[in-house]
Amino acid sequence: MTLNEPPVLVTTVRKRCRMCYTCVRECPVKAIRIADGQAKVVSERCIGCGNCIRVCSQNAKQMVSTVDQVAELLDGDERLIALIAPSFPAEFPELHYQQLIGMIRMLGFDKVCDVAFGADLVARRYRSLLSERKRYITTSCPAVVATVERYYPQLVGHLAPIVSPMVASARALRHKYGADFRVVFIGPCIAKKGESVASEVAGEIDAVITFLELRQLFLHRRISANSVTPSDFDPPIGRLGGIFPLQGGELQAAKIQPDLLADEVVNADGHKTFISALRAFDSGQFSAKLLDVICCEGCIMGQGMSSNESAFVRRSRVSNYVRQRMTVRDEASWEADLDGFAELDLSRDFFVRDQRIDQPTREEIEEILRKMGKLTPSDELNCGACGYETCREHAVAIFKGLAESEMCLPFTIESLHRSVSDLHESHAELASTQQALMHSERLASMGQLAACIAHEINNPLGVVIMYAHLLQETSKPDDPATEDLAMIAREADRCKKIVAGLLNFARQNKVLRSSSSVPALLQSSADSAPPPPHISLELDAEMRDPSCEMDLDQMIQVIVNLLRNAYDAMPQGGKVRLIGRDAGNNVQIAVQDNGVGITEEHKKRLFEPFFTTKAMGKGTGLGLPTSYGIVKMHRGQIQVDSNADPNIGPTGTTFTITIPRHNGS
Ligand code: ADP
Ligand code: MG
Repeated sequence: MTLNEPPVLVTTVRKRCRMCYTCVRECPVKAIRIADGQAKVVSERCIGCGNCIRVCSQNAKQMVSTVDQVAELLDGDERLIALIAPSFPAEFPELHYQQLIGMIRMLGFDKVCDVAFGADLVARRYRSLLSERKRYITTSCPAVVATVERYYPQLVGHLAPIVSPMVASARALRHKYGADFRVVFIGPCIAKKGESVASEVAGEIDAVITFLELRQLFLHRRISANSVTPSDFDPPIGRLGGIFPLQGGELQAAKIQPDLLADEVVNADGHKTFISALRAFDSGQFSAKLLDVICCEGCIMGQGMSSNESAFVRRSRVSNYVRQRMTVRDEASWEADLDGFAELDLSRDFFVRDQRIDQPTREEIEEILRKMGKLTPSDELNCGACGYETCREHAVAIFKGLAESEMCLPFTIESLHRSVSDLHESHAELASTQQALMHSERLASMGQLAACIAHEINNPLGVVIMYAHLLQETSKPDDPATEDLAMIAREADRCKKIVAGLLNFARQNKVLRSSSSVPALLQSSADSAPPPPHISLELDAEMRDPSCEMDLDQMIQVIVNLLRNAYDAMPQGGKVRLIGRDAGNNVQIAVQDNGVGITEEHKKRLFEPFFTTKAMGKGTGLGLPTSYGIVKMHRGQIQVDSNADPNIGPTGTTFTITIPRHNGS
C-alpha cells in the first residue's frame, strides 16, 4: 500500500498572522514553521488537533473547509448516509435531537445515523483486547494516531488495531444498507478530515465536515428547525457509545473500570497531557496495559465546534442525552443488534510516518546558540518567548528549519539595540563628513577669491618691487631717500610673500614632485626651524620605506610652518615630536606638540587665510592655508587633533599629513 499525501488541515491567513509565536508555543508537536513572515502549519507534521486555531488571537489560523465537497455530494444522485458524532448534544443545545436529525435529512441525506452504535461496536472490541498480554494505546482519536505514527514510531505496534467509531459505523452501515451508499461524517473534529483520507481506511468515509460546517450548510440552504419534520436516527441506534466523547467515556462504554490499584488502564486527555502519557508509556516505567488517550479534553472540546460553553456544561448535555436515550433503548435489543455485527471486520493497520528529524550534534546546537549571542549557559534564559520551552529546543528547531533566530526576543532586542547604535554611528559619521565637505567648499571659494586678489596684486606689486630696487640702485648712499626706498622694497617683498602664500593656498603654484626621502625632509625642516632653547625637538622617522615622490622645497615649507606653530603654542616650553610613518601607499608625517591646544571654535577656521590668534606683526595667518594648499596639491590630507577642553586641560596638538607615496598612486 502506498501512503497518501498528508492532507492540508489548517491554513494561515497571511494578512492576519502577526508572528506572536503563540501557535508555536501551543502546538503539541511543533508542526509550525516560521517562514516568509508568517507561521505556517507543516502538513506532514500536523496532527490536526486544531489547537493553533483556538489559541490564535488574530484568527489567522483556519481549518480547511470541506463544505463544497459535501454540497456536491448533496447535489448529486448518489444515496447518502450522514454519520453524526455523539458529541452533537454539546453543539446543538438549542435543538431537540429529532429536530437536528430532521434538518440533516432536509439537506438531502437518505439516512441519518448515530456514530454511538459504531462506538458501541468498538467498545466491545476493546474489552476483548484487554485479555491479551500486549499493551495497547486506544486509536479512536485520529490526532493521537497521527502523533504516534509521526513522532513515536516505536509505539506504532502498540496502537490498538481497531478502527475508530466513525469507520466502524461506516462499515456497519454499508453492511446493513448496501455498499453503494456514500458516507459523510459530521463531528467536532478537524483531525477526522485527516483520518478519512488515510490510506488504511481510504474510501470508507467519503467526506468529513465539522459541526461548524454543518451550521454553514443549514445557513446556505436556509434550513431551520421550524421548516422540518422531526425524526429519529436510522437504525442501528447506539446506547452507551453515546458517552464516547466524554473524558473516560470510551472506557466506560467498554465497561472497563480503571482500577487505581491494578494500574492496568490509564486514561489521559488534553493536548499537553496526551503527549506526556505517550512518553510515559514509551519509557517503560509505566505498566498500564491499556492507555486510553485522546488529544482534546473529550471530543466535546473539539475545534470543529461553535460552542462557547464550558467542558462541564457540554458534558452534562451529552450525558443527559445518553441517559434519556438509554431509557427508551432497551438493553436486550441493543445487545442483539451488536451481536448482529459480531463478525464485522473492525480491524485496521497503522504505519510509521516518521516525522522525527535527526537531532543536531551538540556542536551544531552550540553554533546556532552562539549566533543568537548565547555564549555561556547563563545566556540561555529559557524565557519561552520564542514558543519553545528552552533555548536549546529553539536551536534544534532552527536546525530543522522550523524556526528562525529572530524568534528569540532577547536576541532580537539586542540586535535592534545594535542596529540603533550603528545607525547613530553612521549618522554621526555622515554629519561630520557633511561638515568636512562644507568646510572644504568654504575653503575652495576662499581660494578662488584669494587667487583673484593675488593675481591682481601680483603685477602692480612686481612693478613696485622692480622700480623700488631700480631706484635703490641709482640713488646715492647719502641721499635721504635711500632709507625710504629700502623700506618700500622691504615691505613690497613682504607683500610678495603674502601673495605667494595666497597663491599656494589657492593651489595656483605648481608642485614638482621628485623622488625624495621622508627622513631627509624631516631633517631639513628641523634644520630650517630649530627649536628655541626651552623646547626640545625629537625626530622619529623609522620607516620601512622612506621614499616618497614630493616637491621637497614646498614640503619643507609645510613642515617648517607646522613646527613654528608648535613652538608658538608652547610659551612655557615643552617637547615637539616630528614623526614619519609608512601608511601603505601613503606616507604620514605628524607634528606633535604638548602646547596650549586649539579650541573647537578655532579649529573650524584654522585653514582660512589670515586667521591668526597671534599678536599683530607676530602672525599673518597664512602658515596653515599655505600648508593646506601645498598638501592638497600633493593630493594629500591634513588633519588636526587637538584638545583645549578647559575641564581636561590642554593636551597638545597633532597635525598629521598624509600624502601618496607615488605620483600616480
Ligand atoms: P599664524 O601662525 O600666522 O597665526 P597659521 O595659519 O600658521 O597662522 O596658524 C593659524 C592659527 O592656528 C594660529 O594663530 C594658532 O591660533 C593656531 N595654531 C596653529 N598651530 C597650532 C598649534 N600647534 N597649537 C595651537 N594653536 C595652533
Ligand atoms: Mg604659523
